[in-house]
Formats: sequence, structure tokens, C-alpha cells
Amino acid sequence: MKELMVQGTGQLAWVEVPTPRLASARSALVRPIASASCDLDRRLIAGVTPFKPPFALGHECVAEVLEVGAEVTTVRRGDLVSVPWKIACGECRQCLAGRATACTAVPRHAAYGVPAGGHWGGLFAEVVMVPFADAMLVPLPPGLNPLAVASASDNLTDAWVAASQPIATREDARVLVVGGTESLGVLAVQMAVAAGAASVDYLDDNDFRRDLAQRSGAHIEPGAELNERYDVVVAATRDPHALHRGLLALAPGGHCSCIGILFEDPKIPLFGMYMRGVTLSVGACNVRPHIPKVVELVGSGQCDPLLVSPTIVNCEEATEALVQPLAKCIVVRERMTG
Ligand SMILES: [Zn+2]
Ligand SMILES: [Zn+2]
Repeated sequence: MKELMVQGTGQLAWVEVPTPRLASARSALVRPIASASCDLDRRLIAGVTPFKPPFALGHECVAEVLEVGAEVTTVRRGDLVSVPWKIACGECRQCLAGRATACTAVPRHAAYGVPAGGHWGGLFAEVVMVPFADAMLVPLPPGLNPLAVASASDNLTDAWVAASQPIATREDARVLVVGGTESLGVLAVQMAVAAGAASVDYLDDNDFRRDLAQRSGAHIEPGAELNERYDVVVAATRDPHALHRGLLALAPGGHCSCIGILFEDPKIPLFGMYMRGVTLSVGACNVRPHIPKVVELVGSGQCDPLLVSPTIVNCEEATEALVQPLAKCIVVRERMTG
């Protein structure tokens, strides 16, 4: 089968590799039919992350189930499923507490499309092995456009959790989304609106994303004086200065969800944060428990993830499309199971 590999810095290619087989009675084989680029992917290809090639790319997709092991009960051949980015067992102490990113049954950081905890394949590949099918896969309801939830594996659900959790405990929340990565900021705007924010302001110097954020329901913040104005800040930026501004923008009792991935140590205004009693959360998103809710939000039209994924290509066009700046891209493949 063919797998999309980052072979070296800036080198992306389809490579012929052995087709994976079922690893156990609890595993499944799936065929991605709509794979989205994560906001991290272009940087992974460019070689500007701690994760070095060669490795298989891709950790967001909807797939069709090809084959399941004897003990799998929740999905069967032909089902359309969302495949979470994180490999996790669903049964260990951490998984049961909703912390799949800390799963103790697999190597630390085990995931698709990032070579941080071993090599598990990438979700642009023709066939992917899912070691814990019942714990990981989320069957999709009939009638849902699979392209619209391709990103539920990571970015879309990350945006939902980052916005909705702090909004849930703050009445009439004033929200600031600090944009900067390809899709997360705009998705966070949509999710803040869906979560019932009283207002959503968007801060970004990029015109393309500002337009998308406005169409998603945000007021575009010119950014002159932000300090202590917001109950919730979602920092979807890689810029340490933008994160710093977001932290200063928190009102007393506020919360900042930091979902842009910063590789350096940013400056954190801790004393002011202490005095205002604000919190900062950071960490890869435990998506699996939240994917059903996200699927429901997409199905009911409460968010429109395709707004940030204007480029839809086939596999031949993928290597070109995935290195383009600005927007997310979705790679599609025909179904086999009908
Ligand atoms: Zn990602
Ligand atoms: Zn586990």
C-alpha cells in the first residue's frame, strides 16, 4: 500500500510500504477516505519541529472500517469512523480518567503521524491499523458529510474543548481568540459561539484568517487596549508575544487555553496572573471523549469546519497541496466497502 511519508526536510512523497495487518483481536484495519492536515503538519514537513524524519504523516481523518478483530464489538466492516490522533487503550487508569494522552499501555506520546512515541503510521495512508478499535474509533451517524468531520480527530475537537470548557463555568463569557495557526483560531471562534459565549473577539494580523473569523461570528479586535477585558482567552498562536498579550488580556478569574504549539519557552506574566487568579491550560487534547459532541455540533450546523478547509484534493495532488500556507487541506479517497 501507499503511505504519505516525510522523508527529509521539506520532502513529502507517497512511498510503497507493507500493508498493515490486525495486531490483535481488539484491533481494526481502516481506510482513510477524508484526511485533513493538522496545523502542525506543514511545520512537520518543513522540519522545524523536534520531530525528525523519516515518518508517516497525518493524524486527522474519517475512515471506513475494512476489517476488525474477533473481540471488537462497536464497529464492523463498512462503518464510517472518526479516528483519534492518539493511540490509547481505553482501559488503563489514565484512559479511564479521560487522559488518553497519558495512556500507560503504549509508549509515551504514541500517536499517528508524529514520530514521538514510535511509528504507528499516518492517517493519509491507504490502510491504517488501529490497535484498540472499541476504545478509539467513533462511528459516525448516517447522512453526515465525512469531509466536515475529518478534523474531529484533532484540531476541531481541540478547538471545542479549549473554548467550551472554560466558557461552561463562566456566565456571559467575554472571549478573545488569539489566532495565528492555519485553522485552530477560526475553529475556536466557531466553537466559542456554539458554546454560548456572550461575545467573541478575534486578534490576528492575517487578513485571510480575520475574514474567516468574522464569517464565523467574531468581532475583529483592532488590538489597541486588551488588558483584563476577557473571561476566556483561546491562544491559537505560535507567537510567544501574542500568547503574552492573551495572558495580559485575562480579567480576574479568567482562563487561557493555549492550543498553539510553542517549542520555545515563552515569557509568562505569572505575578499578574497570580494576582488576578487566572489559569492557563496547555497540552495535547484528549479528543476521544469529546468527538461525539463535536460530530453532533457539525451535524446540527452549529459549526462549519469546511470554512477553514477550502482545498479538497485527491491523493496525487496531496504532496503539493499540503505545503501550501494559510488554510487546511483535505485529501479524499474513494470508498471500497460501498
Ligand atoms: Zn495535530
Ligand atoms: Zn490507556
